[in-house]
Amino acid sequence: SSIELQDLVQLGKIGSGNSGTVLKTLHVPDSRVIAKKSIPVENKTLVKNQLMRELSIMQNVKPHDHIVGFFGAFYTASTTNEIIILMEYMDCGSLDKIMSTYKAFVRRGSLEASANWFTEPVLARISHSILDGLSYLYREYKIIHRDIKPSNVLINSKGSVKICDFGVSKKLINSIADTFVGTSTYMSPERIQGNVYTTKGDVWSLGLMIIELVTGEFPLGGHSDTPEGILDLLQRIVNEPPPRLPPGLPCSREIVDFVNRCCLKDEKERPSLQELLCHDFIVRGRSQGDRDFRHWCKRIKKRLKEDKMLNREEKERAKLVKR
Ligand code: ADP
Ligand code: MG
Repeated sequence: SSIELQDLVQLGKIGSGNSGTVLKTLHVPDSRVIAKKSIPVENKTLVKNQLMRELSIMQNVKPHDHIVGFFGAFYTASTTNEIIILMEYMDCGSLDKIMSTYKAFVRRGSLEASANWFTEPVLARISHSILDGLSYLYREYKIIHRDIKPSNVLINSKGSVKICDFGVSKKLINSIADTFVGTSTYMSPERIQGNVYTTKGDVWSLGLMIIELVTGEFPLGGHSDTPEGILDLLQRIVNEPPPRLPPGLPCSREIVDFVNRCCLKDEKERPSLQELLCHDFIVRGRSQGDRDFRHWCKRIKKRLKEDKMLNREEKERAKLVKR
């Protein structure tokens, strides 16, 4: 079931990040909605050949419950120099989008800040899916993700949590990192120090992400996008005590312990994916039924739609006021 670019019709923009832009797209022959990601690249034959070779590894990754489906990669020659990646469309978006939608409702006063959408059973589900997806990629393909962060964890209304954008292509990562350094914030201490990178680096990122989802804030503080600001953040990651869930929140012993272990600064002490899959936080969380989680996802989708409408209304009103 290979897809050809000429069979795609653009439906709208989903988002853009460090590497490129993601569009919601219709595959006309089977009326299926997919996501199309475009990444601008250098126009050098050597670079793009290598990129394509590395991307073709993704072609071999067999579908998995916790990995976003891959439908092909293209290089658009002549007019624009970009790599195009076609993938499964996830209709509840990414965790950062869900988090910012939640904040928007709190800002409008229609939600209590304490009514965080990311409850512990939900976080346990999400964590389990990520750990399981990561362990599949490593077990079967020796692939290390390298870029676990809220925007690379996607959810759909069928109740699936999947990871995307894994670091198959070192070349791609490097060529993006050359121009943007913004995503370095989820990097583990050992990676910053230039040591061997293992799946435990992804465990660190998962720990940071959970703290962020619970508190609504990135745990290591802000940084400016100047070289000094980034260097300062990286130094803090290496030198300061590890991030923690702040005291005073209604957190269970299990989630606190889980996060503390993920965020152990010494990679050798930090548990492996397999060990974490057996942690009480994950095991207990899995006892929540599929139905409850599917329900949660459906509710999130409704909220996202509502938010889109409210934003449109707010914009219209602002226009009227200006006039
Ligand atoms: P980043 O991950 O750095 O934010 P990306 O270009 O990878 O940048 O993605 C931009 C945004 O598009 C993401 O934040 C996410 O919300 C959304 N997105 C990416 N892939 C998909 C997908 N397959 N389905 C739905 N939304 C997606
Ligand atoms: Mg991404």
